[in-house]
Amino acid sequence: MTARPLMFFGTTNLDLCFNVERLPMPGESLMGILSRHPGGKGANQAVAAARLGLKPHFYTRLGDDDAGQSLLKSLTEAGVCTDAIEICVGEVSGSALVLVGDDGSNMIVIDPGANAKVAQDMIASATKFIEHDAIVVAEMGMPSVALNRLFEMKRDKGFELIFNPAPVRPGLSSAAWRSVDFVTPNQREAFELTGIEVCDFDSAAAAAVRLLDLGPRAALITLGAQGAYYADATHSFALHAFPVKAVDTTAAGDAFNGAFAASLAQRLPLREAVRKALAVAALCVTRRGAQSSMPSADAVDEFLKSQTILELE
Ligand code: ADP
Repeated sequence: MTARPLMFFGTTNLDLCFNVERLPMPGESLMGILSRHPGGKGANQAVAAARLGLKPHFYTRLGDDDAGQSLLKSLTEAGVCTDAIEICVGEVSGSALVLVGDDGSNMIVIDPGANAKVAQDMIASATKFIEHDAIVVAEMGMPSVALNRLFEMKRDKGFELIFNPAPVRPGLSSAAWRSVDFVTPNQREAFELTGIEVCDFDSAAAAAVRLLDLGPRAALITLGAQGAYYADATHSFALHAFPVKAVDTTAAGDAFNGAFAASLAQRLPLREAVRKALAVAALCVTRRGAQSSMPSADAVDEFLKSQTILELE
């Protein structure tokens, strides 16, 4: 059976990445090693899906600067379809300062640049790339007005909508919330949306109830090294994360979201789709970087085969 069409909407940034022994305290200066990588939540998610063998469309807004050119090139090389991407004259592409400690923890500051200027009319015209029966993934780095417009388009286009509410910000209308099929916060985002501290599967279950009250059909909360919790109106399940040695957790959530969407597009049953997303995210945290740490379909198949043996033992 052929895969369902897949389209991502979100941000693209140039990541200026400093590897440091540990994260600095306020007022402290530390030595680190700088490298530059393509990033941005939307771009990372689209690349995660492309690495798994999909050919997703991606809408993002870039400046016409050097960063924009290299970000566009890296998306094309990763196998993402870039026809919908807007390149805006005189604008600066988004960038992010990423600090990664030796223990894999990170701190991130973002200058959104062109990402902050995504307008409603561009979103409306980008939706012409959404094909019949598509899965659409959106993150919250784009302005809320643009997201509201995109979510409104669901009425005409009838796509299935995965909403990754990161970084959490206000402004999504209640109608927009009701059009979401899967909302996929991490622990921090679930707390910000519900006021419930998510520290284990029990508290995730409580937060999921509140998330469903906002309007989405289902909630899928990621809990870092603990795994993920799913709930809709009639059933729920929790899956443990795969045990791996994390060296850099940058983009773990993006790997999870990109892979979850790709797995649904490949028509995997829900639970299998979540399991594959956990595998992709686990492999992602064993490597440094954002897009460069997204595993290939073969690497994920190999990994899952070895885990099945472990699970059977
Ligand atoms: P974010 O990166 O958005 O903060 P999480 O920290 O919840 O999101 O991580 C997303 C997913 O990445 C988790 O559900 C899990 O599958 C995987 N993951 C993150 N950290 C680890 C880890 N240390 N070991 C295994 N998997 C991990």
